[in-house]
Amino acid sequence: MIPHWLDKQAFLKPEDIAVQTADGQSLTFQELNEKSRMYASYFAEHGIKKGSHVGVLSSNCVDMIITIHALSYIGTVIVLLNTRLTPSEISFQLKDSEATYLITNTALKDKGRNSMEGTGIPPYHLLTYDEIQPFEKTIDVVTELELDQLFTILYTSGTTGKPKGVQLTYGNHWHSAVSSALNLGLSPNDKWLVCLPMFHVSGFSSVIKSALYGMPIYLVEDFDERAVNHAIKHQGVTMISVVSLMMERMLKELGGGGYPDHFRGMLLGGGPAPLHLLEQAKEKEILVYQTYGMTETSSQVATLSPGVALQKTGSAGKALSTAQLKIENHQTACVVGEVGEIKVKGPMVTKGYYKRPEANLETFNDGWLSTGDLGYLDEDGFLFVVDRRKDLIISGGENVYPAEIESVVTELKEVVEAGVIGKPDSQWGQVPVAFVVKEEHAHLGEEEVISHCKRRLAKYKVPTTVHFLEEVPRNASKKILRRKLVDLLSEMEGEE
Ligand code: ATP
Ligand code: MG
Repeated sequence: MIPHWLDKQAFLKPEDIAVQTADGQSLTFQELNEKSRMYASYFAEHGIKKGSHVGVLSSNCVDMIITIHALSYIGTVIVLLNTRLTPSEISFQLKDSEATYLITNTALKDKGRNSMEGTGIPPYHLLTYDEIQPFEKTIDVVTELELDQLFTILYTSGTTGKPKGVQLTYGNHWHSAVSSALNLGLSPNDKWLVCLPMFHVSGFSSVIKSALYGMPIYLVEDFDERAVNHAIKHQGVTMISVVSLMMERMLKELGGGGYPDHFRGMLLGGGPAPLHLLEQAKEKEILVYQTYGMTETSSQVATLSPGVALQKTGSAGKALSTAQLKIENHQTACVVGEVGEIKVKGPMVTKGYYKRPEANLETFNDGWLSTGDLGYLDEDGFLFVVDRRKDLIISGGENVYPAEIESVVTELKEVVEAGVIGKPDSQWGQVPVAFVVKEEHAHLGEEEVISHCKRRLAKYKVPTTVHFLEEVPRNASKKILRRKLVDLLSEMEGEE
């Protein structure tokens, strides 16, 4: 049991800023506390109870933060929904998680209503922020958080298959935030810019960090590189979490300039990071802490630490202080440099997927989570993530990792993005095939892509074919869906 983290900050730092936005909204910890308790009374009056499963479909806004805390004051389980999903995808998650209410921001009310169809949730259980009224009656709120209690169900991104509901307790989130602080250290001047969606663990974890550290959040609704760079330079932002697409746009916008000294660095995660991008940041002396984590681990489970960020470019660091990490091939520990499946254990790791006994049996063993990702440890024990096991290409008996080829292809300045998959081949078993999106009006042909790869990669890794596309298929979390590229390739070959 710990005291409710927001009550605690309202007591410790009542006048300090808890959250601010680019358009001038701001709340102190005291105000956030009062509003959250007021929203809790409103939700309770509408029938939300301790233990209810409540869907939240919301873009990043101050009301979303208030709602998250309000629901924790009631003791409900929050089901966070990706706003970019279609109503039928949301509907699946609402049913799967057994949600009985849905809270949305006003702009998403129609989508929310459509998503509720067929779920059994009554229409009057759709609540929107703009309807919330100041409330006279107060309720008995939760004043102590039980660390073992389920707090959120967050769905995986569905990159390798159908999304699975990950159950995370207060303790999982608490340990995640504390372990991150032990790695990065805390500064009294810290201000974390949140531009990743709070319906993902990446953004959600910042809300918990804010409440636990007593740290202000600078909240951004839609990522915009100019606004984000401006906030870093002029609003005292010290930390930011990004994915590589965002980092690329920020560095481009920054041009020849750099960030001011108060900026401590960026946490980069969510997927593979192209090496040339990391090198670019290094040249600008921007500290990039590459992280490795997933929904199942309440965000990062391994991260580069400040002291080595510039020496171990490309590594996702070591397991956080409270976590463990190992690499295995068929239950046997891998030696230094040998690629195998990454397994992790720690107090931030979920106890399991909601109502998925088979997936749980497959994924968890003696407290260790099999991540489905491939990686290796270098001689100093630093983790290098290479790719997903499902996407591994085996060509002539050699392992080929699509992410490595994608990283090399995107070195070409005419290339916007690239996706690589394996194609069955009678001689080699499989050969790599690249899908490339080029800059508008750029002159770039298959030959140039292949000859660039030949210069940079071993022969068996060079794509045999290059297809140009308008865009690569991505899921609602903006991750490349290589399985869709496989379908696309078989359609294309069917037409030939
Ligand atoms: P699903 O599990 O439904 O297929 P997903 O795995 O994409 O979707 P998330 O939990 O959002 O869902 O993403 C976690 C995954 O992101 C990791 O398992 C890993 O594959 C990838 N990832 C995270 N950090 C890194 C990193 N530093 N390098 C490479 N890949 C990473
Ligand atoms: Mg996953």
